[in-house]
Amino acid sequence: MYSANINFKDAFGDFSFKNTTFPYHDFVPRLYNFCRSLDFEPGKILPSRAFCSDENQGYPNLLIAKNFGSFPFNHGMVGGIVDTDRHGPHAEHGKDMVIIHASHVGYDPENGSFGNYHRRHTEHFETTASCGKIDAVLEWYLAQYAFAKENIFLHRHDNELLVSIDNQLLNENMIEGLFLHLDRILEVESQGGFRPWRAYSTSKCYAASSELRQLLGETAWPENGRQPIGEKLLPELFGFKRHISGDAEPHGLLEENLAPPMPWIVSSKFPLLTAAQANTQAEFDRTYRTLLNSRGYIGKRVVFISGLNIDISPHKSQSFPPTTFVPWAAFVQKINGHNTVLEQKDIVNRLLEQNEDNPDEFNLENTIQQRKDTQEISIKFPT
Ligand SMILES: [Zn+2]
Repeated sequence: MYSANINFKDAFGDFSFKNTTFPYHDFVPRLYNFCRSLDFEPGKILPSRAFCSDENQGYPNLLIAKNFGSFPFNHGMVGGIVDTDRHGPHAEHGKDMVIIHASHVGYDPENGSFGNYHRRHTEHFETTASCGKIDAVLEWYLAQYAFAKENIFLHRHDNELLVSIDNQLLNENMIEGLFLHLDRILEVESQGGFRPWRAYSTSKCYAASSELRQLLGETAWPENGRQPIGEKLLPELFGFKRHISGDAEPHGLLEENLAPPMPWIVSSKFPLLTAAQANTQAEFDRTYRTLLNSRGYIGKRVVFISGLNIDISPHKSQSFPPTTFVPWAAFVQKINGHNTVLEQKDIVNRLLEQNEDNPDEFNLENTIQQRKDTQEISIKFPT
C-alpha cells in the first residue's frame, strides 16, 4: 500500500533540460573520452546498457558498440530499470566498466509533444506510446485523476466559496484510489472534522478552506453555476493508495519508483516525460547504492551514468531515430575504491570538456567485412 503525500516538486525542478542535451552521436564519443581521462584502458573497457527493450533503443547501442569496440552488456529491464543482479557477470567480463542507464520517452518534432513515437516499421506508420511500459503503469493513475478532475466542482453561494465532492472520492475506506488531502481543501470545524454544507444523493458540498482559496485564487470559482475543478486539482491536493505487487518485477519496481511523485506525474503536461524523468532519478539513486556494495566491482574502474533517452520520432525515410541523451548524474569509482557522484551540472560540464571525436572508434562495416574475409573456423562438434 502506498500513500503519496510528499512534495516532490523540488526534486523535479533540479532536472534541467537547458543546455544539457546530447545527440547520441555526440554523447557516446564524449563519454568514451571521459572514461579515457580517468585512465580507462582502450580495448579493455566493457560497456553495458540498462535501457528499455524497445527497438528504438537500438541506435544508441550501435553507437556504444562503435565507440567502445564491444556490443554493450545487457544490464536493462523493460521500463528502463537496472537489473542490479547482473553487476557480477558484467564485472567478470571486462577490466574497466561502464554502465549507461536511461529511461526513455518519445518526442514528436512536428508538434513538440512528448510521450508518442512514430513506429516506422508498422504497416501504416502508426503512432504509439513511448515508453509503452511506463504508459501501462500510468493508465490506472491517469484514470483516477481524470475522474477526480471531473467530479469535484467549484461553485459559490451568497459569496461563500464552495467545493462539491463525489462521494466516491470521500470514501476513506476504499482500499485503492485517489485520496484527497481534505484538510487542505475543506474548512475544518472548530471541533475537528468536516461538516458538509449540503449533502446530495451522490456528493457533498463543503466550504472551501482558506488554503485552497489562496492556492487557486478566488477567480477560480465561477460567478454563476458550478465548474469541474479540472486542471486546478493540483498535485499538492491529493495522493494515491495502491497495492503494488512486488513479485511482478520489473513492473513492481517501476511502479514503486513512480508512486511517490505520481500526483506530479499525472498532473504534468506530458505525464510520460515526467514519469521517465522520475524513474531515471529513482533508478540512479537505487543503483548507486548497489554499486557501493557490489563485490564484483571492487578494484575496478567504474563509470555509471544515468539519464533520459529522448526518442525523436524518425521521418518516413529515416532508418534510426536521432535519439538524444539528457544526463542526470554519474558515479565514478577509481581503482583504489575512491568514488564520487557527479550531479547533473558537473557531468554535463565534464562531457562538454571532452573531444567530440574518438580516435579509437571502430568502423563497424569494416569489422563485419573482415569477419567475412577471414577463413571460416570449422567447429569441431562432439561425435
Ligand atoms: Zn520502453
